[in-house]
Amino acid sequence: MAQAGSRKRARRIRPRPTARSSGAAPKYVYSFAGGKAEGSSALRNLLGGKGCELAEMTKMGVPVPPGFTITTEAWAAYNAGGKKHPAGLWTQAMAHLARLEAAAGSRLGDPKRPLLVSVRSGARASMPGMMDTVLNLGLNDKSVDGLAARTRNERFAWDCYRRFITLFADVVLSIDRHALDALLEAAKTRAGARTDADLPAPALRELVAELKKVVQDKTGRPFPQDPHEQLRLAINAVFESWWAKKAVDYRRIHRLPDDWGTAVTVMAMVFGNLGPTSGTGVCFSRDPSSGERRFFGEFLVNAQGEDVVAGIRTPEPIEALKTRMPAVYRKLTAIKDRLEQHYRDMQDIEFTVQEGQLFILQTRSGKRTAAAAVRIAVEMFEKEKRIDRDTALLRVEPASLHQLLVKTVDPAARYTAIATGLPATPAAAVGKVVFDPERAVEMALREEAVILVRAETSPEDVAGMHSAQGVLTSRGGLTSHAAVVARGWGKCCVVGAGDVVVDEEHRLFRAGRAVVREGQVITLNGATGEVIVGAQPLVDPKLSDEFRKLLGWAQGRATTTVRANADTPADAIKAREFGAVGIGLVRTEHMFFGDQRIPIVREMIMAGDVQARKKAVDQLLPFQREDFIGIFRAMAPYPVTIRLLDPPLHEFLPKYKEVLEEYTRLDARGYNPERYAELGAIKARLEALLEANPMLGHRGCRLGITFPEIYEMQVRAIMEAACEVAAAGVTVEPEIMIPLTGTVAEMKLTREMTDRVAKQVLTETGRKVAYSVGTMIEVPRAALIADRIAEHAEFFSFGTNDLTQMTFGYSRDDIGKFLPFYLEKKLLPNDPFAVLDQDGVGELVRVGIERGRRTVPTLKVGICGEHGGEPSSVEFCHRVGMTYVSCSPYMVPVAWLAASQAEIKEPKHPESGEVKPKASRANTRKAVTVAARPATRKATRVARKRRNTR
Ligand code: ADP
Ligand code: MG
Ligand code: MG
Repeated sequence: MAQAGSRKRARRIRPRPTARSSGAAPKYVYSFAGGKAEGSSALRNLLGGKGCELAEMTKMGVPVPPGFTITTEAWAAYNAGGKKHPAGLWTQAMAHLARLEAAAGSRLGDPKRPLLVSVRSGARASMPGMMDTVLNLGLNDKSVDGLAARTRNERFAWDCYRRFITLFADVVLSIDRHALDALLEAAKTRAGARTDADLPAPALRELVAELKKVVQDKTGRPFPQDPHEQLRLAINAVFESWWAKKAVDYRRIHRLPDDWGTAVTVMAMVFGNLGPTSGTGVCFSRDPSSGERRFFGEFLVNAQGEDVVAGIRTPEPIEALKTRMPAVYRKLTAIKDRLEQHYRDMQDIEFTVQEGQLFILQTRSGKRTAAAAVRIAVEMFEKEKRIDRDTALLRVEPASLHQLLVKTVDPAARYTAIATGLPATPAAAVGKVVFDPERAVEMALREEAVILVRAETSPEDVAGMHSAQGVLTSRGGLTSHAAVVARGWGKCCVVGAGDVVVDEEHRLFRAGRAVVREGQVITLNGATGEVIVGAQPLVDPKLSDEFRKLLGWAQGRATTTVRANADTPADAIKAREFGAVGIGLVRTEHMFFGDQRIPIVREMIMAGDVQARKKAVDQLLPFQREDFIGIFRAMAPYPVTIRLLDPPLHEFLPKYKEVLEEYTRLDARGYNPERYAELGAIKARLEALLEANPMLGHRGCRLGITFPEIYEMQVRAIMEAACEVAAAGVTVEPEIMIPLTGTVAEMKLTREMTDRVAKQVLTETGRKVAYSVGTMIEVPRAALIADRIAEHAEFFSFGTNDLTQMTFGYSRDDIGKFLPFYLEKKLLPNDPFAVLDQDGVGELVRVGIERGRRTVPTLKVGICGEHGGEPSSVEFCHRVGMTYVSCSPYMVPVAWLAASQAEIKEPKHPESGEVKPKASRANTRKAVTVAARPATRKATRVARKRRNTR
């Protein structure tokens, strides 16, 4: 949703190049103060999300402290220019500082009436907590007294100063935060203070002296006392925080480009730490977990911003504000409604109350679980009529739907929880406990399911959190770092489980009397917040009404349809439940592995001659026919594409190494001669089948052509099954698919064989069943000669797993050896087996479709590789005019939503299947949806009939 919005904006606004071409410095700084602002929401790319919305809110009359924002263009110039301020930046910043000082009525560095500011990072897309912010800047040894005198609150002034030094030392001077926090903890112990807020002024003054000493020791210089110097250093540090490891990690995970950069917002401080009538909080205009329309949030009395987000003290729910500060609560409620109305989306709002006066410090589209995203989108369109249906569809990120298809703890499970925390996301997880985020990454690489357990998480932990199945923290609320980040991913997360005491040193945690050590398996029940020792059974999700509604709209809007890859009747039923309108790939070999079947399959492979092989093959036929009958019934009336046998035969035999071991053992001992002989034969057959490179070896149609009995049997099983269900009045539409075709001759030969057997069956049964014969396009050569292959194929299905493998020359099984390095060094943008490589592999797909349709304009084209459920790949498939995508049953809703969004962004041309150029899209959108779809459907149906009535 954020994507679509920012993209639109990107097109609308271009940074003004005029100033630069005339030689003057571009406008690097934009003010917001006293109801006026130079920026607005439209300048997101230039001012960052935080900066542009502060400007927008200022214009709306929302109470926002005055300030100014330095642009991402300034960042780009700084970054490209050897980390030096571009010409004009500082002069402009000083001019805007003067405006800020005028609005605030105090001056930076004034010892009597010091202006304090925050220096905040802000990228165009929200990266919560990944970059840095400095608060209370402008304090020094003199002005701290001025602040104390002016506010008549010594404790407060010294609290600000200790906070400032800590943040400045951490962010700007790169001094390890732990050492500084340890000093705070020690001061609390000395003073007998339970929380930070209980520390009295003298203790804080002492703490400041200690903090300054650390700075002196670590940097060899005293803590900088000149506020302008402080400001310059802080701005540079915020610029640099774009490159912090946590920020880089976050961008990699979220696939955000590195060259956006951050804006820097400098604004007057407001103080939530001025006593019991002050405080700070975070709120959401709706519940970010369920999407329910209710005010949701958390609040901490006598605290400053970061306290809530960092999860240091567990905050109170927003309702507490109603009794504590009723006027503030009313005002905040009105503002959150207004902001939601204005942005037409759920808002995540930071606010601070200074002695009873409310200030808004940030608003953004709130991160939410997929369930919440769906509910909010559906309700905003259907109930509240605030957005249109297309906007509702665009509001939900397709990949996030996967979360709704996540498993939860079986409601029938009986267990006793050892602790209960706050449920931040609804998903459940089972995994081994690990305390160190880096270890979590390592273990996940070895495919182990882990649960990361921390006292609290910080942005440094994101990579570990991402690798884990679930995250458990003992501190922090529902808006703590862990909760917000995990929610964005839909990852299982339980926070603030107060009973959990983490002992990182001994790699264990305690909860009541229970002790859980690293490596032990636990279950997190994301729905209830419970922590359970051992693995609990998880169950499939129930789809909500809103989900079904959204899915229905997506199906109505998409012009590229969605099928599923399903190998069994059970899969087919699941796929239909998730909205599949056909099967794009039945892998027949998966049926070979059943208990009763594998011995027959082995017999077939071991057969010494055609006769023996045929005997085995004939035994398999009834099994295959049964499976097909089940699948046809489950999918009726939709088409089912069945791929003939594809993998190399050795995959069906025992592993060579194991056979050899047993054989050698028996050889040495000399007993069980029968087994010995059998193993000898298997060993010999395996040796004969041994290939240096099986992926490029005797498989696919090469196998079907050299051992025709196998394909003949499969075609017969398919057609007999089709005739049988047709006889029962079920609509059936088999599509027989030849794998791994690379030459026209292969296609022609297998096509003739298929037609021959199919006709035989039709004659025998006396039925009329329409079927079609097509091919996988997965060998690059096939894509290039697609025009001639299409003379013999009635449909194409791009097998992008093999096509990727053969186009890159990367073995799917060995890519793990170098892929992590390639991704880290950005030699590849993504794993090409997960995200379709549009430039290379995609070009072959495009060429294949174009050439195929040159021969048969109505050629049905689909994709059946793993990419069929990946949103950006689905969008690509839509753009190149595919008829359908096919993916695993669980990804079907994801693919529908992605396909509908692709259609909204670029409508497909009804006849050619091509995507319309963008310019004409406004006028054609209606026409396309109303008139074209039935017409296309009908056209294909007619064409299909024509082709198959032989
Ligand atoms: P992040 O992007 O990590 O949320 P922010 O720039 O929003 O960083 O700031 C961190 C915290 O400091 C937030 O809670 C914010 O509300 C608070 N904060 C920022 N600027 C001010 C200010 N001028 N006055 C009071 N609190 C502030
Ligand atoms: Mg913030
Ligand atoms: Mg393949």
